[in-house]
Amino acid sequence: MPRYIPDDVLDQIRLRADIVDVVQSYVPTLKKSGPASWKACCPFHHEKTPSFTVNQDRQYFKCFGCGKGGDVFNFVMELENLDFSSAAEQLARKYGIIIPETPRRGPGGSRRESLDGQPEYGSRERLCTLHEKLAEFYRDYLVGHPDGPVAAYFRTRGIPDDIAKKFCIGASPDSWDAAIQFARKEGFTDQELRDSGIASSKDENSTHIYDRFRNRLMFPIWNESGRVVGFSARSVEADPQGWKYVNTPDSRIFHKGRLLYALNFARTSIPKAGAVVLCEGQLDAIAMHRAGVTHAVAPQGTAFTADQAAILKRYTSTAVLATDNDNAGREAVFKDAAILLPLGFNVKVVRYPGAKDADETLSKFGADALAGAVRDAADFFEFALEHALSNVDPSTPAGRAAAANDVIYWMIQLENEVTREFYFDWLAKKLNVPLSSVEKVAERRLVDGARHAASAVRRQAGEVPPPKPRNTSLDNAVFELLVLMLDSEEYARKAGEDLPENALGGSVTGKAAEALILSAMNGEWKDAPSSILTSFEMEGADVSKLVEAIDLAAGRSAERAAIEAAWKDGTAAPPASCKAADPDLCVKFFRNTYNSSVRIILADHYQRERTKLLAQLKAIPQDAPERKALFDEIKELSSALLKLPARFKVVI
Ligand SMILES: [Zn+2]
Repeated sequence: MPRYIPDDVLDQIRLRADIVDVVQSYVPTLKKSGPASWKACCPFHHEKTPSFTVNQDRQYFKCFGCGKGGDVFNFVMELENLDFSSAAEQLARKYGIIIPETPRRGPGGSRRESLDGQPEYGSRERLCTLHEKLAEFYRDYLVGHPDGPVAAYFRTRGIPDDIAKKFCIGASPDSWDAAIQFARKEGFTDQELRDSGIASSKDENSTHIYDRFRNRLMFPIWNESGRVVGFSARSVEADPQGWKYVNTPDSRIFHKGRLLYALNFARTSIPKAGAVVLCEGQLDAIAMHRAGVTHAVAPQGTAFTADQAAILKRYTSTAVLATDNDNAGREAVFKDAAILLPLGFNVKVVRYPGAKDADETLSKFGADALAGAVRDAADFFEFALEHALSNVDPSTPAGRAAAANDVIYWMIQLENEVTREFYFDWLAKKLNVPLSSVEKVAERRLVDGARHAASAVRRQAGEVPPPKPRNTSLDNAVFELLVLMLDSEEYARKAGEDLPENALGGSVTGKAAEALILSAMNGEWKDAPSSILTSFEMEGADVSKLVEAIDLAAGRSAERAAIEAAWKDGTAAPPASCKAADPDLCVKFFRNTYNSSVRIILADHYQRERTKLLAQLKAIPQDAPERKALFDEIKELSSALLKLPARFKVVI
């Protein structure tokens, strides 16, 4: 039931909770821009130039970008995703205003509260209180049971008392109902225990409930404004039977994609440090805080989300990624960067020389070493280039091109053009290639991105031209084969078996086809097209035909997928552009294209070889001993030529 908040209390809150003060606690970048006006980048939408304004005289905020506006209550409601009563309660708590404990809904009750209509407030508040009481219960249990298995494990982590107290680390008893009994005694209902995720049951209808967290190390999770809204519970067994971590399920107060562990502690340090340190988990975040890196947070048990990034953007534009020093950690760096770079974050990466993560660095080398590792974090692009170069041979132009291709992919995610230019220049120098080549590749990537998006739309609308008819000339054959191989790894491998080296000629498409075949044979087909394209661009070659082939192949893949989908479930209609709405015909089309292309390429190749041999034959004396061998070779080529139509049949 919504809590009744008398109008005079609301007025008191309005009077004390100055909107500039409140907004600034969430948006530290808010700056004075006039006698009574303040400005910042909007916390509700992504923008580069500030259009979010706060008027101190009128106690009102307004964003001219997204249109959001209102008073201090609206601001807190919007930002914390709260109903009106909860927002008022939060402000009252912050400014030391007491709301009378009478949960009645008076006839003259708050106007806004009656509009609110949701029985949200009371239950929300109670759920937070339940969590806070339980957090203390768990903490007391850990302190009171130093001989228990959780305490024994906890000691191995070497976390000092003051930090354990600050983070309210606790232990859940090895019992099916200890938390439930405690909460019942505190006056909470079984429904509330279910709603909060503290208790679970076999199924929804079952009346029997039991403790979700048993015999685990308990980490309370606070929301941005410092209320406990959930728990993360770590198993203390060396080889846990169940999950290593059990977390509170999403509830009315717990949204894991929008929570950042330790943000309640870090929110004042982040603007001071000018950066946020993003750790993998709670223990790493705690290690950072122990080492004095108090601007560290961790996403909540899942991958970092765009919602979490948007929250951090209110505090800072620099993110220092502190992921583990292993493959999964490196992968996480790239995933996080994909979210952070387009939002305008400056991204850095912590390296832990001689340790696997923050916690180990702290225990092995001490607080200064960990703080130092954060201070010396590498620029993300340096990290990306190092990573890219570790996968290639940097002494070859092809290797450098592949590395450049990888790194440029990340650079074009940068929203700021000046920053982008700066990094292009940096990369060109690092790889010892002209800046213009890097720019050309980047431009191509940007154009490609836009064109692929556009052609995807066209494809969805069924506007793709049907595949072209069979080729007749060699150039066409090479082109058709290239498209086919870009679309199908299987055909790229098959071409590797059917075609001798140098059969594809010296054109860009011929060389690209050869490179693609080689990649397919080496199991690198998937990533080959973009690095092949880049290496041609770096050489300054005309890549228009290659780009056309890549586009066509992408169109065909999409089309075939649509046909297959249509056939599998029999419901979806095949795309309008596909005349052969029949997978068998489709397969036949590809096989025919392959056979006719390879036939033309091989015929040309054999003929050229034969002409060469004939010239050699003419040039040597009639009685030379090698004439016999030359004759045999020529005969073999002629017979291979004759066999081509049977070897590579075209079936209509
Ligand atoms: Zn806005």
